[in-house]
Order: sequence, then structure tokens, then C-alpha cells
Amino acid sequence: MFESLSDRLGGVFDRLTKQGALSEDDVKTALREVRIALLEADVSLPVARDFIKAVQDKASGQSVTKSVTPGQQVVKIVHDELVHVLAGDGGDGTLKIDNPPAPILMVGLQGSGKTTTTAKLAKRMKEREGKKVLMASLDVNRPAAMEQLQILGAQIGVDTLPIVKGEDPVAIAKRAKTQASLGGYDVYMLDTAGRLSIDEELMQQVEAVRNVANPRETLLVVDGLTGQDAVSTAENFDGRIGISGVVLTRMDGDGRGGAALSMRAVTGKPIRFVGLGEKMDAIEEFHADRVAGRILG
Ligand code: GDP
Repeated sequence: MFESLSDRLGGVFDRLTKQGALSEDDVKTALREVRIALLEADVSLPVARDFIKAVQDKASGQSVTKSVTPGQQVVKIVHDELVHVLAGDGGDGTLKIDNPPAPILMVGLQGSGKTTTTAKLAKRMKEREGKKVLMASLDVNRPAAMEQLQILGAQIGVDTLPIVKGEDPVAIAKRAKTQASLGGYDVYMLDTAGRLSIDEELMQQVEAVRNVANPRETLLVVDGLTGQDAVSTAENFDGRIGISGVVLTRMDGDGRGGAALSMRAVTGKPIRFVGLGEKMDAIEEFHADRVAGRILG
């Protein structure tokens, strides 16, 4: 489907080496290929531009032109730089859940995989860390979403806050906190409502919930296949709500994961987890080198 960057550069350097030694211009030609590969992988234009600049500085510092295998060397520099930008403080796959009951706020657009991810993370904390978790859906406009969380909870053996009709999201968040305290829970997860796109009403609602919940973690769930849109979603949520990390879903799909690089570069917030399917175990902590490899193809 995509031509890998190594193949692309191999072609470029094959042509170039036949003409003798490589010049700085040759390296520029190679970097153009890198840029195309990044854009194809859905990295946003300004991020790709900055990235190329960083690679260019490193490539001239490492005298790529004198290398016998310049293509491979450029690929290695690009790969290392990708890992460098992506890695950040990715964490160790655990969430900050000291001082029980610790609230975790889950935010994101409708259909991003927020409810599924809430349940996946709850299962993970329960199984790996022996935590007692309570999940609550705040999606008062979509009864089906509330029921979905209940069904998932029953499936994975994690409690959900009973649904009370007519309650607003802030009241649900408060009730979740009370129940979590009384019930001896280590953590309670608030699955906020999503919309198809960002609107003021959604933001106000999430903000109000954040203010009462004072979450230890605010995780933005983003569909990894949405590419450039994912970046503006992340910018918006981070600017307004303040997120502690991103969960990138649907990385089992065909997407190249360039959004991960853009989101990291634009918001500075780490990608914490990656969703790899619909099943409750299909989530893992973020590995920068895996996503770097994917972006390079
Ligand atoms: P929400 O509206 O954000 O709460 O989204 P849901 O959690 O209901 O997820 C929407 C759909 O995406 C469901 O069918 C999920 O099973 C599916 N889904 C969620 N995460 C992933 C993932 O990482 N990979 C795949 N392939 N599907 C996912």
C-alpha cells in the first residue's frame, strides 16, 4: 500500500551514488522523500517541516555524505529523531492512582473509542495492579452509551455506578466520588459524553465535571485513523481542559500513526496507551519505537 521510506531512499541514493559522491543537495533530495513519507503517514505539515529541519541538522553533523550506505544512515537518523520526539514522558504503563479514590477523567469525541478504552484501562488496573475500580458514564444524552459501559463492566467484572435517570453530569461525578469513597474503591473513572465534533456545550460540560472531580489523570481518547483532525482535537481539549495524556485507538487499523507525532509535537503531552482492537485486552502502553517504525513504513 505505502512505499516504505527505506525503499524510497534506497531508490534515491541508488540513482545518486551512480553519479559519484553525495553533496548536500543530494541529502536535501533525500529529505524531500522523508517529508513525503511523513505527510503520507498523516504528520501535519508544520510538524513535518520542523522535523525535517532537526533531521537535516543531525544529518550534516553526522556526515551522511561520506557514508557508504547513506540511505540507511538517513533512515536511522530519521528513526532516532522520531523516537526522540515521540517518546517524551510516555510513562511506564501505569496511571497515577495514589491517594484513593483517585478520579480519572476520560474525554474525547464520540466514536473515538472512549467507553471501550475506559473499560480496557479499568480491566488493566484491576488485573495488573489489583485495584478496585468504579466506572461511571456521564453521557446523559445517550442512554445507550451508559448501558454500554454497564455491559462492559459486567463483562470484565468491574463495578459501574448505577444509572439514575435525569441526573446531570456534574451530579453523576459527585455521586461517583461519594460511592467510590464509601465503597473503598482505589479509583473511579468518569466516562464523559462525546460529540461528533468539538462544540462549546461539550467543552463547558467537561470543564464543569473537571472542576468538581479534580482528576488525577485526564486522558484524551483519539481515533488514530483520523490523522490531522486528531491533532486539532488534541489541541482543543488540551487548551481548554488540560490533559495528562493521550490514548490513541484503532492502531490495529491501516493508519500510519503520524497523528501521534503531530499531537506530541503540538501539545507536548505524552501518548500513554495505544488501542489495538475491540477486545478488552487490546490495549498496551505506548512504545515510541513501534510507532516510529510504523510511520517510516
Ligand atoms: P465512544 O463513542 O468514544 O465511547 O466509542 P466506543 O468506545 O463506543 O467505540 C466505538 C467503536 O470503536 C466500538 O465498536 C469499539 O469496539 C471500537 N473500538 C474502540 N477502540 C478500538 C481499537 O483500538 N481498535 C478497533 N479496531 N476498534 C476499536
